[in-house]
Amino acid sequence: MLCAGKAIEIYGSEQLKGRILPELAKGCEIGALAVSEPGAGSDVSAIKTTAEKCGEEYILKGEKAYVTNAKVADGIVTLTKTGDSFTVFAAPKFAAGICVGEPARTLGMRGAVAANISFNDVNLGDNNILGGYGNGLAVIADIFDYVRLNVCAVANGIAVAAYNVAKSHAETRESFGKPLAAHQIVAFRVTDMHVDADVSRMLMYNAAWKKQNGEKCAPFVALAKVSASDTAIKNSDRCMKVLASAGLSADSPAQRIYRDARLMEIAGGTNDILRQIIARDLLEL
Ligand SMILES: Cc1cc2nc3c(=O)[nH]c(=O)nc-3n(C[C@H](O)[C@H](O)[C@H](O)COP(=O)(O)OP(=O)(O)OC[C@H]3O[C@@H](n4cnc5c(N)ncnc54)[C@H](O)[C@@H]3O)c2cc1C
Repeated sequence: MLCAGKAIEIYGSEQLKGRILPELAKGCEIGALAVSEPGAGSDVSAIKTTAEKCGEEYILKGEKAYVTNAKVADGIVTLTKTGDSFTVFAAPKFAAGICVGEPARTLGMRGAVAANISFNDVNLGDNNILGGYGNGLAVIADIFDYVRLNVCAVANGIAVAAYNVAKSHAETRESFGKPLAAHQIVAFRVTDMHVDADVSRMLMYNAAWKKQNGEKCAPFVALAKVSASDTAIKNSDRCMKVLASAGLSADSPAQRIYRDARLMEIAGGTNDILRQIIARDLLEL
């Protein structure tokens, strides 16, 4: 995932950046971001993976869950508990003690395979710390903005793909002697797909602009991610309606879009959690 590279770019030592970033940029290496655990998804502060200082080194123990790219990654950026605080480490995937589990069998997004990763007494040094000892939650909060913008872009791609499939079908299939698109309810359904996809793309650009320019952006990123993922799911459903029986075929792109869209409201934090971020910004509580 690009965001592991972003964490190294912003928070890594010069040595780490010099070794890893050119390889990531060339596509020769792949990164993974491992935050979630079997017992800690939305509640990041409930993670149990620890990094214990032992002389000059840190020893990592614990298990991460649903790590996208775990199987193919060359390096892993991970959040650990360090006593009462949290610290982010960048670990080479082939460090002794790192073990990647079986690929998760998921409903959709099967092209980006996730798996669990266990850290069994993995030794890392100070140079592997990103953003300083004890600053893990702040580092991850910053990186989550990028993760969520990333999810926005994927969700927007899904929403537009759904629109394209529905539009093409509505223009070519006929019912009652005319193209489906000539029936107003179908034309409006396809039009709404375009409208919603365009709106959520603009919200993504707005949030990305704020992030890039150092403005307060977490609620705007959350808003863009909620809009993009809700639109991906809504458009995938509308696409199925326009295609009807053709959409249910296992060979149809519509059914893949429908399955892929579901992850968008979960990845990078569920939309419930993101609505809380927006609500905290809007409401005086
Ligand atoms: C295919 C896939 C790929 C993934 N890739 C990665 C990855 O690369 N790296 C990574 O770190 N993680 C990854 N994840 C994990 C993902 O970030 C979590 O699934 C997500 O944060 C939600 O956690 P959870 O599934 O444990 O749900 P839970 O936290 O158990 O939540 C379950 C439900 O309860 C709701 N809920 C929980 N707490 C609250 C609350 N306080 N208020 C209101 N509602 C609440 C949630 O919104 C949700 O509806 C991936 C997940 C999947 C499925």
